[in-house]
Amino acid sequence: MKQSCCDVLIIGAGPAGLALSISLADAGLHVAVVERQPESVLQNPPFDGREIALTHRSVDRLQALGALERIPEAEMSPLSEARVVNGTSPREIRFAPDRRAHDSLGTLVPNHLIRKSLYESARTRPTVQILAEHTATGIETGRESAALTLEDGTRLSGRLIVAADTRFSETRRRMGISASMRDFGKTMLVCRMTHEKSHGNVATEWFDYGQTIAMLPLNDNASGQHMSSLVLTMPARQIERLLASDEASFSAEISARYRRLLGSMTLSGTRHTYPLVSVYASRFVAERFALVGDAAVGMHPVTAHGLNFGLLSEQTLSSLVAGAVRSTADIGGEPVLRRYEAQHRRATHPLYLATNTIATLYTEDRLPARLLRSAVVHAGERLAPVRQTLVATLMRDSAGRLPRSLLRRAFAPRFGA
Ligand SMILES: Cc1cc2nc3c(=O)[nH]c(=O)nc-3n(C[C@H](O)[C@H](O)[C@H](O)COP(=O)(O)OP(=O)(O)OC[C@H]3O[C@@H](n4cnc5c(N)ncnc54)[C@H](O)[C@@H]3O)c2cc1C
Repeated sequence: MKQSCCDVLIIGAGPAGLALSISLADAGLHVAVVERQPESVLQNPPFDGREIALTHRSVDRLQALGALERIPEAEMSPLSEARVVNGTSPREIRFAPDRRAHDSLGTLVPNHLIRKSLYESARTRPTVQILAEHTATGIETGRESAALTLEDGTRLSGRLIVAADTRFSETRRRMGISASMRDFGKTMLVCRMTHEKSHGNVATEWFDYGQTIAMLPLNDNASGQHMSSLVLTMPARQIERLLASDEASFSAEISARYRRLLGSMTLSGTRHTYPLVSVYASRFVAERFALVGDAAVGMHPVTAHGLNFGLLSEQTLSSLVAGAVRSTADIGGEPVLRRYEAQHRRATHPLYLATNTIATLYTEDRLPARLLRSAVVHAGERLAPVRQTLVATLMRDSAGRLPRSLLRRAFAPRFGA
C-alpha cells in the first residue's frame, strides 16, 4: 500500500513533532505526523508529573504557534527567582531576572498541557494529517524522495522525513546515526506537593548529599493551598521504595527530606518516574532526514532546557525549510539540512556538555567531589562553564540572548533564610 502523501513526514507527536507540523503547515507544506499513541491520548494527554520551565523565547514560540492561548492562565506559574544550594553549605547562589527586560526568569507549564495545546493548534491546520495509533517501523531515503513504512504495511512518501521520536529514537538507530548517551544511574521522581509556607515563586535546586531535590514553585491550587512541583533524584531502588509507600508516609518523608523548609508537605495527585539519561546524536541529519527535539538532543533536566531546545530545533529547521519553499529550492536538500545541523549544534552542544559536567559534579558524593562542588559554589560565577550553565538555566530572552545583568551575585547568609 503505497501513498504519496505529503511534503514532510514527521515521526512522533510530542511537543517537538507537533510544533514542527504547525510551522511547516504555516510555510505552505503538507505534513503527516505518525504517532503510536491513540487519538484520545493526544486530545487529552494525562498529567505526567513534568512541569516545564519555559524560557521567554519558548513562551513567544508557543504563542506564534497558536498554542499559548489554549493553556489556562491558572496553569502558568511565574518563576521569579531561583537559588542553587549545595549540600549542607549555608551559602547559596541566587538568580534573578533582568528586570529591565522581564519580571520573571520564565514560566512553569505542565508538560501535558503543552502537548494538548500544540495538538489542538495542529488540528486547526488543514494541511496537517495526524496518523494516530500508528508506528513507524521502516524508513528509506534516497536522492529524490523518502518513504516511511508503518506497522500495518502502509508506505508513505515525501521529500523529507523528520524524527521527533524521543531521546531513545528508534528511527535514529534505523538511520545508522549513533548517539552519545550518558546514564547517570539515577531516577527522578516527580509530583505535585501542597505545603504550609509560601515559596514566594522562587525555585530551589538543592544538591544535597545522597539526593537532589528541586522544588519548582506553582500557583496556589483551587483550594488556595501553596503548591510546588517536586523533582527528587536518587538511585532507582530508593525511588522504587518511595513510589510504593502510601501517601501519608510519602508526604512525611518528603517534608523531612526537605527539612520542613516549606512546612508540612502533602502529596497532591500522582507520582511519576523517569530514568536520568542524557543523549546527544552524533549527526542531526542524513539524506532527506533530520532529527529534532529529544531525538537530537536529550538534555539532563537540571538546566531545564530539553523542551526549550526542542522548540528551538523545530524553529531552526522550519525557518530553513520555509526559506527553501520561498526560493523554490529542495526542502529536503543538502543545503537546508547542512545549515540546520550547523546551527542547532552550535546552539546546543556547549550547554549539553556543561550541563553534564555540572550534573556529574553535583550528584557525586565522594569526598574530592564534595570539596570541589563546595569550592564551585563558593567561587560562584567566576568559573566560566559553571556560570554559563547556570545563567543559561535561568532563561534566555526572547531573541535567544543572555541578558547581561541576569546573574545577581547573592550569597545569602543562611540556607532557607
Ligand atoms: C522530569 C523531567 C523534567 C523536565 N523538565 C524540563 C524543563 O523544565 N524544561 C525543559 O525545557 N525540558 C524539560 N524536560 C524535557 C522535556 O520533557 C523533553 O525535552 C520533551 O518532552 C521532549 O519532547 P519531544 O517531542 O522531543 O519527545 P517526546 O515528548 O518524548 O515525544 C515523542 C513522541 O514520539 C512517539 N513515538 C516514538 N517512537 C515512535 C514511532 N516509532 N512511531 C510513532 N510514534 C513514535 C512517542 O509516542 C511520543 O509521543 C524534562 C523532562 C523530564 C523527564
